[in-house]
Amino acid sequence: MPLDQTEAIVLRSFDVGDQDKIVVFFSRDKGLLRGIAKGARKLGNRFGSSLEPMSLVKLYYYEKERKDLLTLSQSDLIESFFELYRDYRTACTLSYFAELIEEFFPSRAREEIVFRLLLSILRAIKQGGSLDVLSRYFEAWFLQINGLLPDFRRCQKCRQPLPQGGWLSPKMDGVCCAACASQKKDQVLPGLAVFLAWMKKTLPASKAASHFSAEELEAIRKTLQTLILFHLEKEPKSLHFLR
Ligand SMILES: [Zn+2]
Repeated sequence: MPLDQTEAIVLRSFDVGDQDKIVVFFSRDKGLLRGIAKGARKLGNRFGSSLEPMSLVKLYYYEKERKDLLTLSQSDLIESFFELYRDYRTACTLSYFAELIEEFFPSRAREEIVFRLLLSILRAIKQGGSLDVLSRYFEAWFLQINGLLPDFRRCQKCRQPLPQGGWLSPKMDGVCCAACASQKKDQVLPGLAVFLAWMKKTLPASKAASHFSAEELEAIRKTLQTLILFHLEKEPKSLHFLR
């Protein structure tokens, strides 16, 4: 049984047995992984504080054939984001990100782009970036990576530009103008297209984006989360605490 290694971000962990933990990771080159950390709840165990949520770690593990659960041998902390959990709203937001990643990705999907997105957002929050802006940034890129972000610039039916925004189509795969919309339930304001254009040419650095007002960000949140809930087919548990 060879020892493997990968760079990964801890999404969450839970207790199992008397002394062990099951840990869910998102790795740079292997996507979603689950492993058992034996003895991780014993005092002075070899994992130390490396299994805290959102820790960036170098992970060493064994993989048994026909078993989904890896056996973790060692986990070296590269970068900690544990201080972010002192703020309740930030803590809930990070749980929400972890939940989205775990729910949307089948095990072993190789999604280095998601790994880099999450890491850059964590670093931007740590540097004092706006939690609201960075949350919208994460949601929008996350939808985009999954191919679930419709074209907000033109009406899905008549292809006219939408300077005044429009309404989400019933299948959430496009936006319709006032004349074409069959249902006017989920309104999309024009600020969203501006945000997406900005996002595509901006890194999530801390001081960017202060030019979006709280009202604009709230409207953007509503639309992005409507899309996420539609495709997830349920409400993420952690989102409840952010309302
Ligand atoms: Zn139209």
